[in-house]
Amino acid sequence: LEAKEEFSHKTLAMDVMRPRRNDPILTAITQDSMTVEDIEAIISETTYSGFPIVVSRESQRLMGFVLRRDLIISIESARKKQEGIVSTSRIYFTEHTPTQPTTAPPSLKLRAIMDLSPFTITDQTPMEIVVDIFRKLGLRQCLVTHNGRLLGIITKKDVLKHIAQMANQDPDSILFN
Ligand code: ADP
Repeated sequence: LEAKEEFSHKTLAMDVMRPRRNDPILTAITQDSMTVEDIEAIISETTYSGFPIVVSRESQRLMGFVLRRDLIISIESARKKQEGIVSTSRIYFTEHTPTQPTTAPPSLKLRAIMDLSPFTITDQTPMEIVVDIFRKLGLRQCLVTHNGRLLGIITKKDVLKHIAQMANQDPDSILFN
């Protein structure tokens, strides 16, 4: 194989990340436009361990990452203990929250449970490097972006599956083990 050809056959982050081409987009949470019931619906309709937080659906600019279990605990606890938190309460991951009209229910601030700097790579990163980063940094997941827009996610399990696949197809890839 010529070097150039070899390079073009390299598996990239975009080949391993979810969602796959033609799949529905990533399940993300917006930083200031969802309600308690919107997020409860996401929790009950999916089983993902975590969710990226984006500025808005349109921008898909990454702000942080929140773990499913932290969301569940915080919302359950707020519903029980925090005065006035109802299904239509707005959830904010932003630093500042706008003053609400007095008719609106109190909002819920969840910035404290958000990871403000989730690890990010671009979709063109070779998987060889991604595997190395997961190992060295002990990552559980990594977000994938393209031109600053959030595109996908790769979990530790996705990486392990990729390694297993490589090992089956190509014995020389023992290098990954
Ligand atoms: P694991 O990979 O350990 O099973 P998850 O349950 O979080 O962890 O993810 C299951 C699959 O869904 C993985 O292939 C992952 O890439 C993908 N995934 C994880 N989080 C999301 C999300 N928020 N939106 C869409 N897909 C996701």
